[in-house]
Amino acid sequence: MHLFAVDGLPEITAGDDLAALIDARVDFEDGDVLCVASTVVSKAEGRSYDYADFEAGERAQDIAARLESITGEEKDPRFAQAVIEESEELILEAPFILAVTTFGHITVNAGIDRSNVPGGDLLLLPEDPSASAERLSEALGVPVVVTDTSGRPFRYGQRGVAVGWAGIPASRDWRGEHDRDGRELGVTVQSVVDELAGAANLVAGEGDGGTPAVVVRDWEFGDHGGSENLFREEEDDIVREALRDWEF
Ligand code: GDP
Ligand code: MN
Ligand code: MN
Ligand code: MN
Repeated sequence: MHLFAVDGLPEITAGDDLAALIDARVDFEDGDVLCVASTVVSKAEGRSYDYADFEAGERAQDIAARLESITGEEKDPRFAQAVIEESEELILEAPFILAVTTFGHITVNAGIDRSNVPGGDLLLLPEDPSASAERLSEALGVPVVVTDTSGRPFRYGQRGVAVGWAGIPASRDWRGEHDRDGRELGVTVQSVVDELAGAANLVAGEGDGGTPAVVVRDWEFGDHGGSENLFREEEDDIVREALRDWEF
């Protein structure tokens, strides 16, 4: 398995044809998977906004005031408003905003990013990252994973996760296969797109490196069943349920 960054991509702005910019810089081979940072997908899709684009309602003002008193840092209620508008639900309002985005991904601040966004205050995640992946995949002829850098419960540090994907199942099902002791695997479903996203994020970096697109080569999904979804359904997410009931 090889991973390499696509070199020489320019600063992406609204309306750019991201697929064409990538295609001009890579000779794709059969079996390649493209991982691309949500940041550039969002920029191309015009998801960059200013604080002034959001008018803070009562809930956003309450959240900002609460976060300000907890953290001692100044919080702009318009940021909280943007998070509310991008979310189906806020699981936690404090000590940080844990949101279910409109497309079902659970993450802090609905994934709204303030790094690597020249000329804008806020960069929202793509409206529907799997639809974005689908468009890129159709244009490029390879499977596409849209990634974001995200924190992890129970652990310090961040890693890449998949927020959208197309042309590849989300996960690889090992159930029914056997371990080295002959035991049948009962629960193992490997979230392949997250693992690819993690590897790609390592190559893409976080600073001003300018390598948001990473090609995965010589890797195979293999002969396994797959499933399409990664986002746990509400009814079997006990962590979500526990956090909802938790009062900070
Ligand atoms: P995220 O993980 O999706 O939030 O994306 P990051 O903001 O961490 O950026 C990932 C990588 O893409 C970093 O190496 C950035 O320097 C790079 N990057 C971000 N925006 C652009 C852009 O518009 N053009 C190029 N060439 N690189 C970018
Ligand atoms: Mn991000
Ligand atoms: Mn990142
Ligand atoms: Mn193991």
